Amino acid sequence: MKKKYILALDQGTTSSRAIIYDKTGAVMSVAQKEFKQYFPKPGWVEHNPEEIYTSQISVAAEAIAKMGIHDQNIEAIGITNQRETTVVWDKATGKPVYNAIVWQDRRTSDYCNRLKKENRQDLIKKKTGLEIDAYFSATKIKWILDNVPGARKRAENGELLFGTIDTWLIWNLTKGKNFVTDVSNASRTMLFNIHTLEWDKELLSLFDIPEPMLPEVLSNSELYGVTDTLIFSSQIPITGVAGDQQAALFGQMCLEEGMVKNTYGTGCFIMLNTGEKPVISEHRLLTTIAWKLGDKVSYALEGSVFIGGAVVQWLRDEMIFFKDARQSEKLAASVPDSGGVTFVPAFTGLGAPYWNQDARGMIYGITRGTSRAHITRAALEAIALQSYDVIKAMEKDASVTISTLRVDGGATANNLLMQIQADLLQTNVQRPVNLESTALGAAYLAGLATGYWNNFEAISNQWKLEKEFRPLIPESEAQKIIDQWHNTVAMIPKN
Ligand code: ADP
Repeated sequence: MKKKYILALDQGTTSSRAIIYDKTGAVMSVAQKEFKQYFPKPGWVEHNPEEIYTSQISVAAEAIAKMGIHDQNIEAIGITNQRETTVVWDKATGKPVYNAIVWQDRRTSDYCNRLKKENRQDLIKKKTGLEIDAYFSATKIKWILDNVPGARKRAENGELLFGTIDTWLIWNLTKGKNFVTDVSNASRTMLFNIHTLEWDKELLSLFDIPEPMLPEVLSNSELYGVTDTLIFSSQIPITGVAGDQQAALFGQMCLEEGMVKNTYGTGCFIMLNTGEKPVISEHRLLTTIAWKLGDKVSYALEGSVFIGGAVVQWLRDEMIFFKDARQSEKLAASVPDSGGVTFVPAFTGLGAPYWNQDARGMIYGITRGTSRAHITRAALEAIALQSYDVIKAMEKDASVTISTLRVDGGATANNLLMQIQADLLQTNVQRPVNLESTALGAAYLAGLATGYWNNFEAISNQWKLEKEFRPLIPESEAQKIIDQWHNTVAMIPKN
């Protein structure tokens, strides 16, 4: 018997990665490749879908070769991906009709504002759980059909297909045999009814998108197809798919209602498992499908902070406060507090729960005695305060009290940031040994489908705590920082 492993394909916004896991959930091999970002106009962000696919299979081959194993040693593939990013391609030739329009792309924001003025928000929120925003796929698909010469006609004739990145990868890996997606990716298109689990005819008609363009929607852990032998020497089943944040929630083993994770990367992505019932937010959070396993659907509330670790990058690259993001911790720890400085890093607007597209950044409370250390400390506090706002909104929406926050992502390396987060929330913050929750979640979903792991019990004990941060300051002291933050945010003009 050959030893078997699970291959996770983690197709992110700036790079494609492949990670191989063994039965204990240990990382056996990793390969990563960055690909090109295209910015054709201000606010536009595109990727070349073919480059996404080729970079993804090349890192998969590299990870296998590095480990010295064969394709036959791969039991199954799990896919996780940047969500919402939109590809439209020709069914016959497999050629994209336009570049992939990336989730960050703002080209359809005027159209979204028009939809808001037409009072479409309630309908869309009720069906999809989403706020009307250029972020989601629907308006991006419509843009391609309206702007690429001949595209609408070809779509109406059934010649074009739409997919998020998971669908595009599976279609290519199976050489066009399987045209599928999963519920978590579908729930970010703004076309999918998260209650009936179907593409919504009323929304398809509102956005003028022909239904045959859309893939079949499957659960998160089942057979999506097998790889063609032109790609790997053996036919490898693809058996797990989830959007990146949902995969991270799964990889963090937040399997029970009330469990929450925050990924601290460029932005912060917070997700709360709300169990079998969708909670429609009254605080402008998104309601989304966490996963479907068998017939059981789990829902989640989600809130995103646009500028998280990116504020540290800005202090490093523009303010030249330090050379390496890691130095932010020592600098901020050199002062006991921010010295009255509040930093609102609304560089690209404010996300949940504010949703202020026009907000811009502000540093308030500067005195003659303000130092780089105070501003850096205020920046770390801002990452935690923005996350605090989202988590408090989640608690209100879901009527729960969150007692522990599980964290992952690059900026969780900052112990001071984690301590500040625990202090502000007055809850425990748990940092696991394995910070690659996204890829691990996809691997788990794939391995559960094939019996590589038999059940949740087989994987839940693989989650290992590396460090727990407990609140060290009294609530009243935390509240002062929070009040000052809210007073400062309130100074920003509203859109
Ligand atoms: P992404 O997946 O969004 O590219 P990562 O999870 O790789 O992000 O995290 C990188 C982000 O974390 C960067 O914005 C960086 O500034 C920030 N970061 C990395 N290390 C630290 C640190 N020790 N302290 C504060 N921020 C950090």
